[in-house]
Amino acid sequence: MRKGIIPLLLCLCLLAGCAGRAANDAETVELMAMDTFMRVTAYGEHREAAELAKEEITALESLLSVTDEGSEIYAANHAEGKPVTLSSDTAALLSRALELCESTGGALDVTIYPVVRAWGFTTDEFRVPEADELAALLERVDYTQVSMEGNTLTLPAGVELDLGAVAKGWTGDRVAALLRQQGVESALLELGGNIHTVGAKPDGSLWRVAVTDPAGDGYAGVVEVANKAVVTSGGYERCFERDGETYWHIIDPDTGYPARTGLQSVTVVAEEGVKCDALSTALFVMGPEKAAEFWRETGGFDFILLTGGGEIVITEGIEGSFSPYGAWIDQTVIVLRR
Ligand code: FAD
Ligand code: MG
Repeated sequence: MRKGIIPLLLCLCLLAGCAGRAANDAETVELMAMDTFMRVTAYGEHREAAELAKEEITALESLLSVTDEGSEIYAANHAEGKPVTLSSDTAALLSRALELCESTGGALDVTIYPVVRAWGFTTDEFRVPEADELAALLERVDYTQVSMEGNTLTLPAGVELDLGAVAKGWTGDRVAALLRQQGVESALLELGGNIHTVGAKPDGSLWRVAVTDPAGDGYAGVVEVANKAVVTSGGYERCFERDGETYWHIIDPDTGYPARTGLQSVTVVAEEGVKCDALSTALFVMGPEKAAEFWRETGGFDFILLTGGGEIVITEGIEGSFSPYGAWIDQTVIVLRR
């Protein structure tokens, strides 16, 4: 790795629970959470803030996991149509997630869980469901069936939530806010494929965040940011192969099959982590043309699309801060304008 670049996809160092003092007068905590490796680095004398960040991540995981029998999401998914009272944290995330389901026209659908489970993505017992099984499960996928009144959630029996597409982004927002409250002015949050930055680097320069090359070991590009989240969704990480075909974990809620829209990955850059996380998943489902249309209509974020044909498509807001890298260095970068 070239010095100074933060890999978007972390190697699994598995230093579960490890905490220590990094170079440059920084406090760092590392943990496995949400089925991925996470590291928070807070620059300056901020040991307590770093420890609080770790506690926050662990607390949010225990509320939001779809498989943990003690979580609020598990309780909601097993309530058989009865109302359940959520903590204000879970209720706030779910409300924001429902707004994002609406604004993406259902490309993001937080009730996708019955379908995700049928493919085996939460259990690693992968299988290709039959078309009629998927058709039956899709009857239960519809975010408009989720009813929230204050902190009271009611799901019709059979409807089940999966916040896997948004929870890490939201965790980034929460941890960044906590660090700022603690007086931290410069911090880097590496939450699996999600990067969240607080301020600029300690020397005042921008963070250089790498976008993983979906087809290789290296990076396809680097984007420079401060005070922003950079979140990638792709079909190359959580996937399995059957009869020569690759199936991945980003599902088109219209068909129940992995979204095949000609994209290798989508990276979204914006201030709000949960929005980046939701949109990286939703734009992957939409595909390049609809993603461009959606960006022109709504704005408030930038993206980097790596297409199956090897093109790089970016939005004009990051034209000056993105550069292709490694095997992608000579690829044409198409810049979308309003
Ligand atoms: P994203 O693109 O951000 O999200 C993809 C995930 O969102 C899919 O895995 C699926 O769960 C869901 N999804 C797919 N299509 C859609 C869609 N169209 N709309 C909405 N959602 C969609 N994984 C494990 O294997 N074991 C665990 O114990 C486990 N625990 C977790 C606990 C928590 C609190 C969280 C947040 C995640 C956990 N995960 C676990 C990982 C989770 O199952 C997802 O694989 C992960 O969140 C995917 O994130 P991503 O950034 O790779 O992809
Ligand atoms: Mg996502």
